[in-house]
Amino acid sequence: MPSYDFDLFVIGGGSAGVRCARIAAGHGARVGIAESRFWGGTCVNVGCVPKKIMVQAAEYGQWAADAGAFGWDIENRGHDWSVLREARDREVARLNGIYRRLLEGNGARVFEAHARFLDAHTLQVGEERVTAERIVIAVGGRPIRPDLPGIDCVMISDDLFTLEKRPEKIIIVGGGYIGVEFAGLLHALGSEVVLTYRQRWPLRGFDQELREGLAEALTAQGIKINPGETITGFGAAGDGRIVELASGRVLEADAVLVAVGREPATQGLGLEEAGVAVDARGAVAVDEDHVTSVPHIYAIGDVTDRLNLTPMATAVGHALADTLFGGRPRRASYDNVPKAVFSSPPIGSVGLTEEEAAARGPTDIYLTRFTPMRHTISKREGRRSLMKVVVDAKTDRLLGIHMLGEDAPEILQGFAVAVVNGLTKAQLDATIGIHPTAAEEFVTLRSPARRAGDTQDEGGREEV
Ligand code: NDP
Repeated sequence: MPSYDFDLFVIGGGSAGVRCARIAAGHGARVGIAESRFWGGTCVNVGCVPKKIMVQAAEYGQWAADAGAFGWDIENRGHDWSVLREARDREVARLNGIYRRLLEGNGARVFEAHARFLDAHTLQVGEERVTAERIVIAVGGRPIRPDLPGIDCVMISDDLFTLEKRPEKIIIVGGGYIGVEFAGLLHALGSEVVLTYRQRWPLRGFDQELREGLAEALTAQGIKINPGETITGFGAAGDGRIVELASGRVLEADAVLVAVGREPATQGLGLEEAGVAVDARGAVAVDEDHVTSVPHIYAIGDVTDRLNLTPMATAVGHALADTLFGGRPRRASYDNVPKAVFSSPPIGSVGLTEEEAAARGPTDIYLTRFTPMRHTISKREGRRSLMKVVVDAKTDRLLGIHMLGEDAPEILQGFAVAVVNGLTKAQLDATIGIHPTAAEEFVTLRSPARRAGDTQDEGGREEV
């Protein structure tokens, strides 16, 4: 048996890689991990964490503005971007340190360097050459820069976190997670926002009624939406930026954010030296156990482009470490993964959408729309909630639960347990509500709003 420097070497210190390395080291493996940019990866540094802090900043402004309706006399002299930026960056730096210390505390050897394959067991890590019996690729993804004229003069999501000042007017291209999240938060912080996307509705893949509800809510708040628009190019005009649309229109703003998805960050890794195969999108191809085309090399997280969400990446990294070194072979399930979009209002979602369920068979749809109590008083526009339960009409099993409305991500985390565990609508109904809350609606929806997916029924809704 050849002897290697490490039992496991992990390339990439993001959510997937750090979890895998930490747990493997905790199981007693000799682990090395390399990260060339920042510990914690996209989520901690240029994703979920700093974004959520900015969402919270936006909410404070709205609460301060609404507080008058509840009797508070608050003088709001505006938002100081630099204070937010400093607080956010401090928190990110704190988390960076925690990630690194967690690894070292578990006995992993940490390399702050770029790693690339020299062969299937050998890596060049900065100045050092190391060998490992098993190698995990966990290098994540990066924002796509579409091949369009002028693309270099616009921002991608990473740039949002280094902005010195908030743009007074911004055009956001892309109706996905990042597009709608930043449209809501920048608008609430005071920017004029134009959101442009190529579909008729934002958030393709989410329940159609939620997509429509979100588009309505964004418009009601004052965000200008341009659906069904294709971009042909970008340009600079003085200090400003322009976006050219296929319709011939030209939009102008102080800044443009392009958020049209992310791609696996496999460049410069030397995958070909190791014989690791990639698919057409450049994602590392893996089997159900996250094994690549080389049996002792694995890939986890966004670089596999399976389900690009942090909790999925950490779950997969943990399961792989337990499988390889913990004597506990297992797979993290990709079924019924709950999702949240921190839009304004936010979305929480688990399981099948109405459209997906209806395509499989008769489905009962339970639905409620209401103005949350807070906003019957504040009169704030664009805050109506929509809650939907998707039920298999034959078995009474819960297939999906979806919410657009305040606290939706918090509420859905708990209700996801019901869908993941195959509970029935009757079991939901047997749970007493917590009053007065919005969440109680999920256990008090007595009669279906409609039956979808029935051949007799014309009411099934179409994905647009
Ligand atoms: P998404 O995949 O969510 O959305 C991409 C958007 O860009 C879609 O509206 C898509 O339209 C559009 N698009 C794609 N290609 C083009 C193109 N060539 N021209 C014009 N529009 C285009 O990507 P994001 O960048 O918003 O986010 C990246 C990923 O990061 C997410 O998919 C998610 O995995 C993760 N993320 C998760 C968050 C969360 O969990 N809350 C928050 C932020 C990001 P179409 O629908 O037509 O393809």
